[in-house]
Amino acid sequence: MRLEKCWFCSSTVYPGHGIQFVRNDAKIFRFCRSKCHKNFKMKRNPRKVKWTKAYRRLRGKDMTQDATFEFERKRNRPERYDRNVTEQTLKAIPLITKIRHERQKKHITERQKAGKSMVRKSDAKELDQDIGMVPKKETENYVAKQKVLVSQLKTEENLMEE
Ligand SMILES: [Zn+2]
Repeated sequence: MRLEKCWFCSSTVYPGHGIQFVRNDAKIFRFCRSKCHKNFKMKRNPRKVKWTKAYRRLRGKDMTQDATFEFERKRNRPERYDRNVTEQTLKAIPLITKIRHERQKKHITERQKAGKSMVRKSDAKELDQDIGMVPKKETENYVAKQKVLVSQLKTEENLMEE
């Protein structure tokens, strides 16, 4: 049993699913569902369609280089059946998927960091420019509160030193 990849969106094509197109030069195109097949017939480029893996990979939105992908590589030499190897493989599958999910999560949070710092910077700039819009009373209250906090901290530090 071989799990094929969809030519258009790169998702897994399970046995008995999707459709296969063989061009007259014998090149095989596999599609996971009619959506992908239709897009292919419309001569769309998967790199330009936002929901495909090709698009996401090209723009660095997905994790592309990782050792966990090595297990899914297409091998043309059939592996001889060995009960122990099969057993070990079946045991390893959930572990590998777990590791990959964790790495993907990390990849996403790393990518979100840049956007978050940009938002913080623009917020700080806006506040700096439009500080006059905030009622004076409130800013004074805030400053007073901060001063109280700082003095409290200082007294605590002094107590610690003594
Ligand atoms: Zn597809």
